[in-house]
Amino acid sequence: MSHPITIALSKGRIFKETLPLLEEADIRPTEDPEKSRKLILGTNHDDIKMVIIRATDVPTYVQYGAADIGVAGKDVLMEHGGDGVYELVDLNIARCKLMTAGKNDYQPGSGRLRIATKFVNVARRYFAEQGQQVEVIKLYGSMELGPIVGLSDLIVDVVDTGNTLKANGLKPIDHIADVSSRLIVNKASLKMKHDRIQSIVDQMRAAVK
Ligand code: AMP
Repeated sequence: MSHPITIALSKGRIFKETLPLLEEADIRPTEDPEKSRKLILGTNHDDIKMVIIRATDVPTYVQYGAADIGVAGKDVLMEHGGDGVYELVDLNIARCKLMTAGKNDYQPGSGRLRIATKFVNVARRYFAEQGQQVEVIKLYGSMELGPIVGLSDLIVDVVDTGNTLKANGLKPIDHIADVSSRLIVNKASLKMKHDRIQSIVDQMRAAVK
């Protein structure tokens, strides 16, 4: 029990797709977070626990060492900035793309564009690189509404099949980045609990397809 380990995960797709990889590292939660209101789950090891948190909070927990290990989407890591964490393995799960999108009749013009997104840092960085002046409007969800109701010219969002864009009269425009979930580790934890964490990382890496 000298070096207890905490793993931060979010519910839903990331949890489901991470479970088989953790299983390869002989780590199994004792409860299903979809059926429990508990925020902390035990595992088959007395000294390994899981915290179930919002996807966007995973890098923050790992950055401050509240969790030693976490699984977070590249989109979330790009938005967070990655301070204090090592991104050690591309788990190749929950794949999608970060894209700009606009109305089907959107035509690029000149002048300042309004961008609605929850990825404000990603959007500012991307349009600055393009030399495009923008005003970024922070939203917390349903970004697809932005261009439809005239809140914004474009959105920045994650896109998988593109069906959600299509169903709302939008089209994908520019590809910003490919997204998949990454195994991240707190920098100090990797030093202090090196053997334990390295072995979990190696086993999960070996299990990635
Ligand atoms: P789509 O298949 O493009 O219609 O995507 C369905 C919805 O799920 C969209 O609103 C996306 O924002 C979201 N989405 C798709 N893939 C991911 C992912 N890997 N992580 C988080 N959200 C996603």
